[in-house]
Amino acid sequence: MTPIAYADFHARSLAERDSFWAEQARRIDWQTPPQQICDVSRPPFARWFVGGTTNLCHNAVDRHAAARPDERALLWVSTEVGQQRVYSFGQLQGEVEAFAAMLVEQDVGAGDRVLIYMPMIPEAAFAMLACARIGAIHSVVFGGFASSSLASRIDDASPKLVVSADAGSRAGKVLPYKPLLDEAIALSTHKPSAVLMVDRGLAPFQRVPGRDLDYAELRRRHDGARVPCAWLESNTPSYTLYTSGTTGKPKGVQRDVGGYAVALATSMDWIFGGKPGETFFSTSDIGWVVGHSYIVYGPLIHGMATLMYEGTPVNPDASVLWSLVEKYRVTVMFSAPTAVRVLKKHDAALLKQHDLSSLRALFLAGEPLDEPTARWIAEGLSVPVIDNYWQTETGWPLLTVAHHIPGVQAVPTRLGSPGVPMYGYDVQLLDEQTGAVLTAPDQKGVLAIAHPLPPGALQTVWGDDARFANTYWHSVPGREVYSTFDWATRDADGYTFILGRTDDVINVAGHRLGTREIEECISGHAAIAEVAVVGVADALKGQVAIAFAVLRDPALASPALEGAVMKHVDAQLGAVARPARVLFVTVLPKTRSGKLLRRALQAVAEGRDPGDLTTLDDPGALAQVKTLLQK
Ligand code: ATP
Ligand code: MG
Repeated sequence: MTPIAYADFHARSLAERDSFWAEQARRIDWQTPPQQICDVSRPPFARWFVGGTTNLCHNAVDRHAAARPDERALLWVSTEVGQQRVYSFGQLQGEVEAFAAMLVEQDVGAGDRVLIYMPMIPEAAFAMLACARIGAIHSVVFGGFASSSLASRIDDASPKLVVSADAGSRAGKVLPYKPLLDEAIALSTHKPSAVLMVDRGLAPFQRVPGRDLDYAELRRRHDGARVPCAWLESNTPSYTLYTSGTTGKPKGVQRDVGGYAVALATSMDWIFGGKPGETFFSTSDIGWVVGHSYIVYGPLIHGMATLMYEGTPVNPDASVLWSLVEKYRVTVMFSAPTAVRVLKKHDAALLKQHDLSSLRALFLAGEPLDEPTARWIAEGLSVPVIDNYWQTETGWPLLTVAHHIPGVQAVPTRLGSPGVPMYGYDVQLLDEQTGAVLTAPDQKGVLAIAHPLPPGALQTVWGDDARFANTYWHSVPGREVYSTFDWATRDADGYTFILGRTDDVINVAGHRLGTREIEECISGHAAIAEVAVVGVADALKGQVAIAFAVLRDPALASPALEGAVMKHVDAQLGAVARPARVLFVTVLPKTRSGKLLRRALQAVAEGRDPGDLTTLDDPGALAQVKTLLQK
């Protein structure tokens, strides 16, 4: 049979939505099969696999433990503390059941919230899976977030119990968590009744009597405990997770059980091309959506081993990720452009030191993948490097190139574009002012998704249906569509190019420009390692672009180079796009997940208060910008 075109396959996923997803639903175990595939009766809400009962932990752990208990499930490596551990599916089930028994003993049950504030250690994954097992709703907060960020999340989630640890470690530096947690609980209005502490022996801490529990002691007591999986209706909330806060106050994304499991199982096969028994390696953190979908749930649901890594890409040296690929025979890897750019500052020969023959593809997501970075890593690895675009809200890729759908032609990658709309997503490009659907190629518009969102996407904003409807669905005039708040174009072949956030569109003397377009252009200049462009208010032109650039060789910073970069932009994009200034910095302000904090850069450049900086990684980055601007 000749394979069909991807576009036809995608069209079928929308036109025959229910039969399409009914087929995919067979990838997971249901205790009761769904009675209705998709309930669209109350837009903008959607309910998937209505009436079906299932369990994420059963699908991720128990069903594999029953079939092949001794196969590897969770591999943990910490270059921070020099330890590693391997859990088979059978052992993982034992750990998760013991953890679930501890939760039950603390009277945590279905619907109760458990906040997880943990470093990248196996107990964090046990905690998530144990919650899923008993129907408790987990809310993972990135470890090391400051107490004020943590306190606001404690108040929003109102957890009965918090799971934490004495400390995390980053680049060899111990980061005590307990004082931050105690401070957060002191600040929050809601007070959790119990705190379950994993003591790694990294940082001594005070226990609050009657509240703080010792994991090691409880673990011993519950060894061998059996706690059955709770069969949950597909639309029961499984977890909440906050967005990165790049554009403002983080939103509490709430996800379901059945739709999420089906979406992940399908993506593991069709998008990532992983195979049960192989090893998947995501360098993300459990505090982010990539960690939820592709460190914990996705690979395990698919019967793969997942490699969980505590460490940085450059410690002990810049080949550490590749040494892990070699050692664990990783077949599919997932990382972020920011990690690759960090590696790019080191010798490319480090890539060649290890046997990477097991690796079939590297997936990158989270921020724009610039062409020089994409080329550098693709040449170095000699495997496909696949950009994929999605959001905390969607839970799995929205744009990419699915290469593993049987009977469907693979879509080739195209540099600069994450790809085409994935099956199940009715993606539209809309005129920001009129809401009209843009169909002609190369027009700029807001990237939106028509109702209903596919399985796996957010159900609502936790505790705030009105915010869900108003923020996401009512931002384009006259239309009830989900806005990604990203700005994009689509070429004649249907490839989508992300131009930046809708609030990063700048207006220079009437010309609308995406900051990302200018960044892409500047990063093509040989001297530049990394760049951020923001629009800054200007009395004459409305707005002007200012570029903050990190040089490959900081010693080369000079007015002549600034002029050369401007000329480069003139030649490629035209003089309207030329930044008013190019400032050379040594580091850019980024969130803890590696995303550029443009809104903070812009505020500082306009002499305003940069606002909520709790997600900022390195406060020194903004200080440097301030100093430069004053010159
Ligand atoms: P907030 O919504 O709180 O401002 P955030 O949008 O940074 O935070 P995430 O959900 O972690 O939080 O990030 C999703 C966003 O990241 C996308 O909307 C897009 O702007 C950007 N992004 C993700 N993947 C890509 C990609 N492959 N190419 C370009 N941009 C990407
Ligand atoms: Mg967002």
